[in-house]
Order: sequence, then C-alpha cells, then structure tokens
Amino acid sequence: MSIDAEELTTCPARITLDAAQLAFFDGLPTAAPSLQSELGCELEQGHEGSHAALGQQVDATMWWLQWTLSASEINPYTWCPARQTPTAQSRADTDCALFDGHPGRHSSAKTYWQADEAA
Ligand SMILES: [Zn+2]
Ligand SMILES: [Zn+2]
Repeated sequence: MSIDAEELTTCPARITLDAAQLAFFDGLPTAAPSLQSELGCELEQGHEGSHAALGQQVDATMWWLQWTLSASEINPYTWCPARQTPTAQSRADTDCALFDGHPGRHSSAKTYWQADEAA
C-alpha cells in the first residue's frame, strides 16, 4: 500500500563503450556534455534481464545502453511513468529515472521503491 523505499542499492555491473557506441552517442543531436566511456548499470541490484545505463537523452527519447555478458546494444526508450509523488504535475527528483518497462524497482536519484500493483 505505502511506498516502500530503501537504501540505494545499485547493480554493480559496468561496461566500457566500444568505438561504434561512442560514435553513435557523439552523433546524436544533443548539447549534453561529452559521454563517459565507461557506464554503470542504473537498475536495482539483482534485477532480471539486461543491464542498462542511460547514454544520452534527446528531447523525450532516452538512449539506453543495454548489455549482457555476451552482447550489448543501444535502444531508445521513454521515461518510466512511475513517480513517488502521484500528485506531481511535472518531473521531479523523486520521479523514476529509468526507462519505461525496466525490470526491478523504480529508481529516483535517491531511492528505489516498489509501486503499488493496483493502478
Ligand atoms: Zn545491472
Ligand atoms: Zn520506474
């Protein structure tokens, strides 16, 4: 029923981008600062499925690098619609900072939480 927030426990997986991936991000029409060549997974520790790190955001599209032990790819997503404060009218620090459909708990800059099943 209530929001179940916990200490931040992020997946420890990291990935080093290859030349093609760096070139892809460099080619996006964004004024974002230069991309780091190494990214860390932003999902909850112990999550299912591929690891994921946000590479760049272009308008409403977020380009996420997703990887497993054997492969990696870059995919476009929109923001996860979950937020800890349902009444908020605009994005805030407490809104989920992951992509729509991500595995594991929702994550803001400070906490992970489990959304109510009944929506
Ligand atoms: Zn991960
Ligand atoms: Zn979420």
